[in-house]
Amino acid sequence: MNLKASPLLAIYQPYPIGVSKAEGHYIVDENGKKYLDLFSGLGVHALGHRNQVVIENIMGQLDKYLHLSNAFVTEPTIKLAIQLRKFTFPSKIFFVNSGTEANEAALKLVRKWGKSQGKQVMLVLEDSFHGRTMGSLSLTAQPTIQKPFHPLLTDIKTLKLNDVDDLKRKVNENTCAVFVELIQGSGGIKLVNLEWLEELLRLKERYHFLIVVDEVQTGLGRTGKLFAYEHYRFIPDMVTLAKALGGGLPLGAVVIHEQLEAVFQTGDHGTTFGGNPVAAEAGLTVLNIVSHPNFLQSVQTKSKFLILHLLRLQKEFPSIIKDVRGMGLMIGVDVNQSAKTIQSLGLKEGLLLNTVGDHIIRLLPPLTITTDELLFFIERFRKILTTQAGE
Ligand SMILES: *Cc1c(COP(=O)(O)O)cnc(C)c1O
Repeated sequence: MNLKASPLLAIYQPYPIGVSKAEGHYIVDENGKKYLDLFSGLGVHALGHRNQVVIENIMGQLDKYLHLSNAFVTEPTIKLAIQLRKFTFPSKIFFVNSGTEANEAALKLVRKWGKSQGKQVMLVLEDSFHGRTMGSLSLTAQPTIQKPFHPLLTDIKTLKLNDVDDLKRKVNENTCAVFVELIQGSGGIKLVNLEWLEELLRLKERYHFLIVVDEVQTGLGRTGKLFAYEHYRFIPDMVTLAKALGGGLPLGAVVIHEQLEAVFQTGDHGTTFGGNPVAAEAGLTVLNIVSHPNFLQSVQTKSKFLILHLLRLQKEFPSIIKDVRGMGLMIGVDVNQSAKTIQSLGLKEGLLLNTVGDHIIRLLPPLTITTDELLFFIERFRKILTTQAGE
Protein backbone atom coordinates (compact mmCIF):
# COMPACT_ATOMS: atom_id res chain seq x y z
CA MET A 1 0.00 0.00 0.00
CA ASN A 2 1.45 3.34 -0.99
CA LEU A 3 0.51 5.66 1.84
CA LYS A 4 1.67 8.78 0.03
CA ALA A 5 -0.86 8.09 -2.71
CA SER A 6 -3.63 7.31 -0.24
CA PRO A 7 -6.43 9.86 0.11
CA LEU A 8 -6.42 9.16 3.86
CA LEU A 9 -4.60 11.51 6.14
CA ALA A 10 -1.41 9.75 7.17
CA ILE A 11 -2.11 9.71 10.90
CA TYR A 12 -1.97 5.97 11.37
CA GLN A 13 0.54 3.33 10.47
CA PRO A 14 -1.78 0.62 9.22
CA TYR A 15 -0.87 -3.02 8.86
CA PRO A 16 0.46 -3.77 5.38
CA ILE A 17 -2.35 -6.20 4.63
CA GLY A 18 -5.69 -5.79 2.91
CA VAL A 19 -8.52 -7.38 4.82
CA SER A 20 -11.10 -9.45 3.00
CA LYS A 21 -12.97 -10.76 6.01
CA ALA A 22 -12.94 -10.81 9.79
CA GLU A 23 -14.70 -13.66 11.54
CA GLY A 24 -14.52 -14.83 15.13
CA HIS A 25 -10.94 -14.59 16.33
CA TYR A 26 -9.37 -14.26 12.88
CA ILE A 27 -8.78 -11.69 10.19
CA VAL A 28 -8.35 -13.00 6.66
CA ASP A 29 -6.29 -11.07 4.11
CA GLU A 30 -6.82 -10.71 0.36
CA ASN A 31 -4.70 -13.77 -0.30
CA GLY A 32 -6.74 -15.91 2.05
CA LYS A 33 -4.11 -15.94 4.80
CA LYS A 34 -5.60 -16.14 8.30
CA TYR A 35 -4.26 -14.17 11.24
CA LEU A 36 -5.13 -14.76 14.88
CA ASP A 37 -6.31 -11.39 16.16
CA LEU A 38 -4.71 -10.61 19.52
CA PHE A 39 -6.01 -7.08 19.87
CA SER A 40 -9.59 -7.42 18.56
CA GLY A 41 -10.13 -4.02 16.98
CA LEU A 42 -8.27 -2.36 19.87
CA GLY A 43 -10.24 -4.01 22.62
CA VAL A 44 -13.57 -3.51 20.86
CA HIS A 45 -14.54 -7.05 19.89
CA ALA A 46 -14.93 -8.66 23.30
CA LEU A 47 -16.91 -11.45 21.59
CA GLY A 48 -14.73 -11.67 18.49
CA HIS A 49 -15.53 -10.39 15.02
CA ARG A 50 -19.08 -10.73 13.74
CA ASN A 51 -20.50 -12.46 16.77
CA GLN A 52 -23.68 -14.08 15.47
CA VAL A 53 -25.96 -13.01 18.32
CA VAL A 54 -24.74 -9.42 18.05
CA ILE A 55 -25.36 -9.45 14.31
CA GLU A 56 -28.83 -10.96 14.62
CA ASN A 57 -29.85 -8.36 17.17
CA ILE A 58 -28.43 -5.53 15.08
CA MET A 59 -30.42 -6.85 12.10
CA GLY A 60 -33.54 -7.00 14.24
CA GLN A 61 -33.08 -3.37 15.23
CA LEU A 62 -32.37 -2.33 11.62
CA ASP A 63 -35.85 -3.59 10.77
CA LYS A 64 -37.37 -1.15 13.27
CA TYR A 65 -35.38 2.06 13.00
CA LEU A 66 -31.78 3.26 12.82
CA HIS A 67 -31.32 6.74 14.15
CA LEU A 68 -34.11 8.79 15.66
CA SER A 69 -32.13 11.39 17.67
CA ASN A 70 -32.41 12.11 21.35
CA ALA A 71 -35.75 13.77 20.69
CA PHE A 72 -36.99 10.20 21.26
CA VAL A 73 -36.43 7.65 23.97
CA THR A 74 -35.60 4.35 22.32
CA GLU A 75 -36.04 0.92 23.79
CA PRO A 76 -32.51 -0.46 23.22
CA THR A 77 -30.99 2.63 24.81
CA ILE A 78 -33.23 2.46 27.90
CA LYS A 79 -32.63 -1.27 28.24
CA LEU A 80 -28.88 -0.83 28.02
CA ALA A 81 -29.00 1.95 30.62
CA ILE A 82 -31.01 -0.27 32.96
CA GLN A 83 -28.46 -3.06 32.61
CA LEU A 84 -25.49 -0.73 33.08
CA ARG A 85 -27.03 0.65 36.22
CA LYS A 86 -27.82 -2.82 37.48
CA PHE A 87 -24.21 -3.93 37.04
CA THR A 88 -22.61 -0.78 38.47
CA PHE A 89 -24.19 1.34 41.22
CA PRO A 90 -27.25 3.58 41.66
CA SER A 91 -26.69 5.87 38.71
CA LYS A 92 -27.90 7.67 35.63
CA ILE A 93 -26.39 6.97 32.24
CA PHE A 94 -25.42 9.40 29.51
CA PHE A 95 -24.62 7.89 26.12
CA VAL A 96 -22.08 9.18 23.62
CA ASN A 97 -20.22 7.74 20.62
CA SER A 98 -16.65 7.25 21.79
CA GLY A 99 -14.25 7.16 24.69
CA THR A 100 -13.05 10.69 24.29
CA GLU A 101 -16.64 11.96 24.28
CA ALA A 102 -17.42 9.98 27.42
CA ASN A 103 -14.49 11.67 29.14
CA GLU A 104 -15.48 15.09 27.76
CA ALA A 105 -18.92 14.67 29.29
CA ALA A 106 -17.41 13.59 32.61
CA LEU A 107 -15.03 16.54 32.49
CA LYS A 108 -17.86 19.01 31.92
CA LEU A 109 -19.84 17.48 34.74
CA VAL A 110 -16.81 17.70 37.04
CA ARG A 111 -16.28 21.33 36.07
CA LYS A 112 -19.88 22.27 36.78
CA TRP A 113 -19.96 20.36 40.06
CA GLY A 114 -16.59 21.89 41.03
CA LYS A 115 -17.95 25.40 40.53
CA SER A 116 -20.80 24.68 42.92
CA GLN A 117 -18.25 23.48 45.49
CA GLY A 118 -15.61 26.14 44.89
CA LYS A 119 -13.14 23.52 43.66
CA GLN A 120 -11.19 23.79 40.47
CA VAL A 121 -8.21 21.49 40.12
CA MET A 122 -8.33 18.12 38.38
CA LEU A 123 -5.68 15.49 38.85
CA VAL A 124 -4.63 12.87 36.34
CA LEU A 125 -1.96 10.18 36.31
CA GLU A 126 1.30 10.41 34.45
CA ASP A 127 1.04 8.53 31.12
CA SER A 128 -2.73 8.53 31.29
CA PHE A 129 -4.83 8.30 28.17
CA HIS A 130 -8.33 9.73 28.17
CA GLY A 131 -8.78 10.74 24.54
CA ARG A 132 -7.82 13.14 21.80
CA THR A 133 -10.36 15.97 21.80
CA MET A 134 -9.12 19.13 23.51
CA GLY A 135 -10.77 18.45 26.87
CA SER A 136 -9.83 14.77 27.12
CA LEU A 137 -6.47 15.59 25.60
CA SER A 138 -5.90 17.96 28.50
CA LEU A 139 -6.40 14.95 30.79
CA THR A 140 -4.01 12.80 28.74
CA ALA A 141 -0.69 13.31 30.52
CA GLN A 142 1.57 12.10 27.74
CA PRO A 143 3.80 14.95 26.55
CA THR A 144 4.27 13.60 23.02
CA ILE A 145 0.50 13.52 22.50
CA GLN A 146 -0.23 16.85 24.20
CA LYS A 147 2.66 19.09 23.29
CA PRO A 148 1.77 20.12 19.74
CA PHE A 149 -1.64 21.31 20.93
CA HIS A 150 -0.86 23.65 23.78
CA PRO A 151 -2.46 25.66 25.27
CA LEU A 152 -4.72 23.07 26.85
CA LEU A 153 -7.20 23.35 29.71
CA THR A 154 -5.58 24.75 32.81
CA ASP A 155 -5.94 23.59 36.41
CA ILE A 156 -5.01 20.02 35.56
CA LYS A 157 -2.12 18.50 37.50
CA THR A 158 -0.26 15.27 37.00
CA LEU A 159 0.24 12.61 39.65
CA LYS A 160 3.03 10.04 39.71
CA LEU A 161 1.61 6.54 39.40
CA ASN A 162 1.42 4.74 42.75
CA ASP A 163 3.34 7.48 44.57
CA VAL A 164 1.39 8.00 47.79
CA ASP A 165 3.50 10.96 48.97
CA ASP A 166 3.09 12.74 45.66
CA LEU A 167 -0.68 12.16 45.91
CA LYS A 168 -0.81 13.56 49.45
CA ARG A 169 1.14 16.61 48.37
CA LYS A 170 -1.11 17.41 45.43
CA VAL A 171 -4.61 16.75 46.79
CA ASN A 172 -6.27 19.54 48.76
CA GLU A 173 -9.58 21.45 49.23
CA ASN A 174 -9.28 22.79 45.73
CA THR A 175 -9.23 19.33 44.13
CA CYS A 176 -12.49 18.70 42.31
CA ALA A 177 -11.72 15.38 40.66
CA VAL A 178 -9.17 12.66 40.07
CA PHE A 179 -9.35 10.82 36.75
CA VAL A 180 -7.86 7.31 36.71
CA GLU A 181 -7.41 4.34 34.49
CA LEU A 182 -6.94 1.50 36.97
CA ILE A 183 -4.88 -0.24 34.33
CA GLN A 184 -3.31 2.22 31.96
CA GLY A 185 -3.80 1.02 28.41
CA SER A 186 -1.96 3.32 26.06
CA GLY A 187 0.36 4.20 28.97
CA GLY A 188 1.85 0.69 28.83
CA ILE A 189 -0.39 -1.68 30.85
CA LYS A 190 0.56 -0.21 34.20
CA LEU A 191 -1.62 -1.05 37.20
CA VAL A 192 -2.72 1.27 39.97
CA ASN A 193 -1.84 -0.48 43.21
CA LEU A 194 -4.22 -0.99 46.13
CA GLU A 195 -2.15 1.06 48.56
CA TRP A 196 -2.36 4.14 46.33
CA LEU A 197 -6.07 3.65 45.71
CA GLU A 198 -6.74 3.30 49.44
CA GLU A 199 -4.89 6.54 50.10
CA LEU A 200 -6.94 8.20 47.38
CA LEU A 201 -10.13 7.03 49.11
CA ARG A 202 -8.88 8.34 52.49
CA LEU A 203 -8.15 11.72 50.91
CA LYS A 204 -11.56 11.73 49.26
CA GLU A 205 -13.19 11.34 52.68
CA ARG A 206 -11.28 14.37 53.85
CA TYR A 207 -11.48 16.66 50.80
CA HIS A 208 -14.64 15.53 49.00
CA PHE A 209 -13.55 15.36 45.39
CA LEU A 210 -14.89 13.08 42.67
CA ILE A 211 -13.23 9.95 41.37
CA VAL A 212 -13.79 9.31 37.68
CA VAL A 213 -12.67 5.88 36.54
CA ASP A 214 -11.95 5.60 32.84
CA GLU A 215 -13.00 2.06 31.96
CA VAL A 216 -13.06 2.68 28.22
CA GLN A 217 -10.52 -0.09 27.79
CA THR A 218 -10.77 -2.05 31.07
CA GLY A 219 -14.57 -2.29 31.15
CA LEU A 220 -16.98 -5.01 30.03
CA GLY A 221 -15.10 -8.04 31.31
CA ARG A 222 -11.67 -7.21 29.91
CA THR A 223 -9.96 -7.63 33.30
CA GLY A 224 -11.90 -10.73 34.36
CA LYS A 225 -14.47 -8.71 36.28
CA LEU A 226 -17.17 -6.71 34.57
CA PHE A 227 -15.42 -3.49 35.61
CA ALA A 228 -11.84 -3.04 36.79
CA TYR A 229 -12.90 -0.99 39.83
CA GLU A 230 -14.46 -4.17 41.26
CA HIS A 231 -10.95 -5.55 41.79
CA TYR A 232 -10.31 -2.56 44.05
CA ARG A 233 -13.58 -2.85 45.97
CA PHE A 234 -14.81 0.72 45.83
CA ILE A 235 -17.55 2.69 44.09
CA PRO A 236 -16.44 5.49 41.76
CA ASP A 237 -18.46 8.68 41.26
CA MET A 238 -18.37 8.28 37.50
CA VAL A 239 -17.28 5.56 35.11
CA THR A 240 -16.61 6.18 31.44
CA LEU A 241 -17.07 3.41 28.89
CA ALA A 242 -16.66 2.92 25.15
CA LYS A 243 -14.57 0.47 23.05
CA ALA A 244 -16.30 -2.90 23.71
CA LEU A 245 -19.58 -1.24 24.69
CA GLY A 246 -20.98 -0.92 21.16
CA GLY A 247 -20.22 -4.50 20.06
CA GLY A 248 -18.26 -3.07 17.11
CA LEU A 249 -20.42 0.02 16.57
CA PRO A 250 -19.53 3.45 17.98
CA LEU A 251 -20.93 3.81 21.48
CA GLY A 252 -19.72 5.29 24.71
CA ALA A 253 -21.31 6.00 28.06
CA VAL A 254 -20.83 7.85 31.30
CA VAL A 255 -22.22 6.11 34.35
CA ILE A 256 -22.97 8.93 36.78
CA HIS A 257 -23.56 8.22 40.46
CA GLU A 258 -27.08 9.24 41.42
CA GLN A 259 -25.67 11.72 43.93
CA LEU A 260 -24.49 13.71 40.92
CA GLU A 261 -27.53 13.30 38.72
CA ALA A 262 -28.77 16.85 39.32
CA VAL A 263 -25.50 18.45 38.19
CA PHE A 264 -26.43 18.34 34.52
CA GLN A 265 -29.71 20.07 33.78
CA THR A 266 -31.65 20.05 30.52
CA GLY A 267 -29.52 21.72 27.88
CA ASP A 268 -26.19 21.44 29.72
CA HIS A 269 -24.83 18.86 27.33
CA GLY A 270 -25.94 16.86 24.33
CA THR A 271 -25.12 14.81 21.26
CA THR A 272 -26.86 14.00 17.99
CA PHE A 273 -25.81 10.39 17.62
CA GLY A 274 -24.99 9.47 21.22
CA GLY A 275 -26.78 6.30 22.30
CA ASN A 276 -28.03 5.47 18.85
CA PRO A 277 -30.41 2.50 19.03
CA VAL A 278 -28.49 0.16 16.71
CA ALA A 279 -25.27 0.50 18.69
CA ALA A 280 -27.24 0.27 21.93
CA GLU A 281 -28.85 -2.98 20.78
CA ALA A 282 -25.41 -4.39 19.99
CA GLY A 283 -24.15 -3.15 23.35
CA LEU A 284 -27.02 -4.72 25.22
CA THR A 285 -26.18 -8.04 23.62
CA VAL A 286 -22.51 -7.74 24.57
CA LEU A 287 -23.29 -6.71 28.14
CA ASN A 288 -25.75 -9.56 28.63
CA ILE A 289 -23.14 -12.08 27.51
CA VAL A 290 -20.02 -10.73 29.22
CA SER A 291 -21.77 -10.08 32.53
CA HIS A 292 -22.54 -13.76 33.04
CA PRO A 293 -20.50 -15.10 35.99
CA ASN A 294 -19.34 -18.14 33.99
CA PHE A 295 -18.14 -15.90 31.20
CA LEU A 296 -16.13 -13.72 33.59
CA GLN A 297 -14.76 -16.85 35.27
CA SER A 298 -13.58 -18.13 31.90
CA VAL A 299 -11.75 -14.84 31.27
CA GLN A 300 -9.94 -15.26 34.60
CA THR A 301 -9.05 -18.85 33.85
CA LYS A 302 -7.67 -17.97 30.42
CA SER A 303 -5.83 -15.05 31.92
CA LYS A 304 -3.99 -17.32 34.37
CA PHE A 305 -3.20 -19.72 31.57
CA LEU A 306 -1.83 -17.02 29.30
CA ILE A 307 0.21 -15.32 32.03
CA LEU A 308 1.67 -18.66 33.14
CA HIS A 309 2.86 -19.36 29.60
CA LEU A 310 4.20 -15.85 29.14
CA LEU A 311 6.14 -16.12 32.41
CA ARG A 312 7.61 -19.38 31.15
CA LEU A 313 8.74 -17.59 28.02
CA GLN A 314 10.23 -14.87 30.19
CA LYS A 315 12.28 -17.54 32.00
CA GLU A 316 13.38 -18.95 28.70
CA PHE A 317 14.20 -15.55 27.16
CA PRO A 318 15.18 -13.35 30.11
CA SER A 319 17.25 -11.09 27.88
CA ILE A 320 14.19 -10.24 25.76
CA ILE A 321 11.17 -10.30 28.08
CA LYS A 322 11.57 -7.79 30.89
CA ASP A 323 8.11 -7.97 32.38
CA VAL A 324 4.68 -9.52 31.95
CA ARG A 325 1.83 -7.63 33.59
CA GLY A 326 -1.87 -6.99 33.44
CA MET A 327 -5.19 -8.40 34.49
CA GLY A 328 -7.69 -10.60 32.75
CA LEU A 329 -7.07 -10.47 29.02
CA MET A 330 -5.40 -7.06 29.09
CA ILE A 331 -1.75 -7.99 29.23
CA GLY A 332 1.46 -6.16 28.46
CA VAL A 333 4.68 -7.91 27.53
CA ASP A 334 7.55 -5.52 28.09
CA VAL A 335 10.41 -6.41 25.75
CA ASN A 336 14.02 -5.31 25.58
CA GLN A 337 13.87 -4.67 21.86
CA SER A 338 11.67 -2.98 19.34
CA ALA A 339 8.09 -4.09 19.89
CA LYS A 340 7.37 -3.03 16.29
CA THR A 341 9.91 -5.57 15.00
CA ILE A 342 8.21 -8.32 16.97
CA GLN A 343 4.88 -7.08 15.65
CA SER A 344 6.00 -7.41 12.04
CA LEU A 345 7.51 -10.84 12.67
CA GLY A 346 4.11 -11.73 14.15
CA LEU A 347 2.48 -11.02 10.82
CA LYS A 348 4.60 -13.69 9.14
CA GLU A 349 3.56 -16.12 11.86
CA GLY A 350 -0.13 -15.33 11.46
CA LEU A 351 -0.42 -13.19 14.59
CA LEU A 352 -1.91 -9.72 14.81
CA LEU A 353 -0.18 -7.92 17.65
CA ASN A 354 -0.57 -4.40 18.97
CA THR A 355 2.19 -2.35 20.55
CA VAL A 356 2.23 0.64 22.91
CA GLY A 357 5.32 2.74 23.44
CA ASP A 358 8.48 1.35 21.89
CA HIS A 359 8.81 -1.76 24.00
CA ILE A 360 5.43 -3.09 24.97
CA ILE A 361 3.30 -5.65 23.22
CA ARG A 362 -0.26 -5.09 24.32
CA LEU A 363 -2.47 -8.16 24.21
CA LEU A 364 -6.22 -7.51 24.06
CA PRO A 365 -7.53 -10.72 22.51
CA PRO A 366 -11.24 -11.36 22.16
CA LEU A 367 -12.51 -12.52 25.55
CA THR A 368 -13.91 -15.58 23.78
CA ILE A 369 -10.46 -16.73 22.60
CA THR A 370 -9.88 -20.44 23.26
CA THR A 371 -6.97 -21.99 25.18
CA ASP A 372 -5.92 -23.75 21.96
CA GLU A 373 -5.67 -20.36 20.26
CA LEU A 374 -3.71 -18.98 23.20
CA LEU A 375 -1.34 -21.95 22.87
CA PHE A 376 -0.99 -21.28 19.17
CA PHE A 377 -0.05 -17.70 20.00
CA ILE A 378 2.49 -18.84 22.63
CA GLU A 379 4.05 -21.33 20.23
CA ARG A 380 4.41 -18.74 17.44
CA PHE A 381 5.56 -16.05 19.85
CA ARG A 382 8.20 -18.46 21.14
CA LYS A 383 9.37 -18.99 17.58
CA ILE A 384 9.74 -15.23 17.12
CA LEU A 385 11.64 -14.90 20.39
CA THR A 386 13.95 -17.74 19.37
CA THR A 387 14.82 -15.92 16.15
CA GLN A 388 15.33 -12.65 18.00
CA ALA A 389 17.51 -14.26 20.69
CA GLY A 390 19.80 -15.56 17.95
CA GLU A 391 20.30 -12.08 16.42
C1 LIG B 1 -9.31 4.27 23.72
C2 LIG B 1 -9.39 5.00 24.99
C3 LIG B 1 -9.97 6.28 25.06
C4 LIG B 1 -10.45 7.02 23.85
O1 LIG B 1 -11.50 6.37 23.23
P1 LIG B 1 -11.90 6.81 21.72
O2 LIG B 1 -13.13 6.02 21.45
O3 LIG B 1 -10.74 6.49 20.85
O4 LIG B 1 -12.16 8.28 21.77
C5 LIG B 1 -10.08 6.88 26.30
N1 LIG B 1 -9.63 6.26 27.40
C6 LIG B 1 -9.06 5.05 27.37
C7 LIG B 1 -8.61 4.41 28.64
C8 LIG B 1 -8.91 4.38 26.17
O5 LIG B 1 -8.32 3.18 26.13
